[in-house]
Parts: sequence; structure tokens; C-alpha cells
Amino acid sequence: MSGRGTARSAELMARAREVIPGGVSSPVRAFGGVGGEPFVVESGAGARIRDVDGNEYIDFVLSWGPLVLGHAAPPVLDALAHAMARGTSFGIPTELETELAELVTERMPHVEMLRFVSSGTEATMSAVRVARAFTRRDALLKFEGCYHGHADSFLVRAGSGVATLGLPNSPGVPGALAELTLTAPYNDIAATRAIVEAHATSIAAIIVEPVVGNAGFIAPDPAFLPALRELADELGALLIFDEVMTGFRVAPGGARERFGVTSDLTTLGKVIGGGLPVAAYGGRRELMELVAPSGPVYQAGTLSGNPLAMAAGLATLRALTPELHERIARRTERLVQGFREAAARVGVPFTADVAGTMWGYFFSAEPVRDFAGARRSDVALFRRFFHAALERGVYLAPSPYEAAFMSAVHGDDVIDDALARIEDALRAASA
Ligand code: PMP
Repeated sequence: MSGRGTARSAELMARAREVIPGGVSSPVRAFGGVGGEPFVVESGAGARIRDVDGNEYIDFVLSWGPLVLGHAAPPVLDALAHAMARGTSFGIPTELETELAELVTERMPHVEMLRFVSSGTEATMSAVRVARAFTRRDALLKFEGCYHGHADSFLVRAGSGVATLGLPNSPGVPGALAELTLTAPYNDIAATRAIVEAHATSIAAIIVEPVVGNAGFIAPDPAFLPALRELADELGALLIFDEVMTGFRVAPGGARERFGVTSDLTTLGKVIGGGLPVAAYGGRRELMELVAPSGPVYQAGTLSGNPLAMAAGLATLRALTPELHERIARRTERLVQGFREAAARVGVPFTADVAGTMWGYFFSAEPVRDFAGARRSDVALFRRFFHAALERGVYLAPSPYEAAFMSAVHGDDVIDDALARIEDALRAASA
């Protein structure tokens, strides 16, 4: 079936490919993981987006996580209009930065100080610089399938687009640097311990996605994050929670609130900017005071703390009260349970999981605990399902190695509508 017009999207993508690599500003958007031509979006409102050919989709990608209030959310648009009327950027402190920093430290008390940057990549690479400076060590431990942005040190067995495109170790990363990045399988405490013990005195930091969203959605086993905390303490290394995706999603206060494990440094992005370019890294005062100009660890940004971005982040976090978070989380559970039931009726191997307002699924008969498990899932079925869902007006991430999200405006009616389309798509994909 293909009732969907795509001519205008195809024409725009052909033009884009002439002047932008792959026609996209970030790789996964090119649909390399599922084949076919991406659509070009025209606008979004609430839970739905509309493409340039006039097709509408219920959106579970939500700009890859930031839009917890949905598209064109009135509080965000109002805050932006108000901030914009006063000027778009100054490169001088504004009150908004302090307000947003205070709000984050209230929700995440272990983040005593933070520095704003403009992307998750900047946040993670800067956090690692602080960890290396503090410990005077150079090595990092990360986990297979976790994605921490595209800084050199992280493009080693990475997830997200690098996994989708089969480029987990990118050319252009100096071998000498890549050698400093050790990797272990997620959720495997014994293997992690063995790797750590072999490099005990050189590891500056253990960095982890507390819930993985970049190898598909993978939840931590109950003992995993506490074991990492213990290992870091034994080593004298810092524990970095990369909460670019999980922050304000797995609980109102992020992973520490959900799992009771406290990181030394935390990176934030996505929701903290409400759809504008904001990210941050923060943690204990003694660590963050190493950052220039308080200390010698250099990190800077012309547009960091930009007033529009701060205003959007503030409006989003103010609206996202614990009560609203809880309501979205309950609806996320309902959606995922409905998806499981639909898959069972259709008879496809399926597993799905949820943490707060973040969720994901695999076409796998067994629960997925690590990147190897994600790769064993039925990727061919995923591709057919992705396109069948898209044809039926449901936009899910175009790769099995990505998570899905929910927003405050994905109400019960939207969920029911989506589930009916999803079941139909499952039937079509498995026929
Ligand atoms: N860390 C995590 C956990 C992420 O999910 C991402 C992006 N999806 C990043 C870091 C990088 O963020 P950005 O794309 O803003 O550089």
C-alpha cells in the first residue's frame, strides 16, 4: 500500500543531497537504517507533524527526545516570543542562565554547579576533560552501543547513527586517542570488572547512559549502576552519567532519582532546551570549579547560554512538574502495553520496555540486555514495520538502534489512534 504522496519530499531531498552530505544535517535522518527516502517536514503541532506533501504523522521521535511538551508547545512559544523581543544573543551573562541553572540544581541536587553548552557532544567531551584533569589520568571506560556524541574519544563501538550505518569506529579518529577508550558490554558486571582491573590506574572516568537509548532502548539490570558506582570508587575514577537523553525523562530528577545511584558528573541535553540547542554538564562543586574561569580546564562557547535557548528550556522544565511527568509516564506505560498486546495478537517476536517517558521496542523473542542482543533482533522485520507504520501515519525512529519518546500532548485519544495504526502496520509487515 502506498497512498502517501512523496514527490515534494523527494525533490527537496535531491536538492539537499547536492549541497549537504546525504542531504541531512545529522546522519540518522537519512533513513539509512531502514532504506527509502526520508520525508521533509513542514510543521508540527502537538503530537503530530506534517510533511511537505501534506501527510500527517503521529510523532514518537519528538526531535529525538527534547519535545516533552509536544510540537509548538504554547508555553515554549510564548517564552521564545518574549525573549526574542529583547534580542537574540548577547555573549554577556543574562538572568535566564542563572534561573535555568538553579532549576536544574533543584531537580538534581547532586548537580551542584553546571555549565551550559549547545550540544550533547560538547557536554560529554567537556565532562571527560574535567574528569581527566581531576584524576590526572587519560583513559575512559564506555559501554558497547552507548552513544555519547561525536567527539573523537566516543566514536569507539558507539551506538545510534554510527551503529545504524555500521561505522562504530570512525575514520578520522587518531588511533592514539581511540586507544584510551576502553569498552565493556552493557549490563555485564563481571566483564566490566575484568577490563577495569586490567587498567586500574589509568581510568579517569566511567561514562554510561543510565538507560541506553542509542542501541535501541535497554534498561539497566538492578545491580548494574550500583556496581559501576562501586567500581569507580575502588578505582578513584569518576562516574559520569550521560543523561542527555534520560535527564528529565526517566524521572523528574533523572537517573539518580530513579535508580538511587549518584554520579560525580552528569551531562544533560534534549529536554533541558525544550527543542532549542541547549546542553549542560555539571556535578560536584569541587569538580565544576576546575572549569575556566574558576579553574584551569578550558571550555567556552559563543552561543552558550543563548537567551532564546535558555527561555525555551526554562519554559519546558517549569511546565514539566513531577505531576505532569507522572501523567506522561502512565500514558507511556499504556502505549507500550498496547504495543505488546498488538504484537502478541499479530504473532511477531516482540519485546518492549519503558522508563518514565522514554520507551523502545525490538523484534526479539527475548528481552534485550546489551548491544549484542539488540543486534540479534529482527532488523528486516523492523524495516518493514517502520515503513508500514509511516505509510499509516505513525513516525517512529528510523533505526532499531534508537529509543522512542512521549509527550504531554500524546493523550489517550492519540495513543488509541496510534495503536490501531501500529497493529495494522504489524500485520502488513509480518504478512
Ligand atoms: N549523549 C547521549 C546519551 C545522546 O543520546 C546524544 C544524542 N542523541 C548525545 C550524547 C549527543 O548529543 P548531541 O546530538 O546534542 O551532540
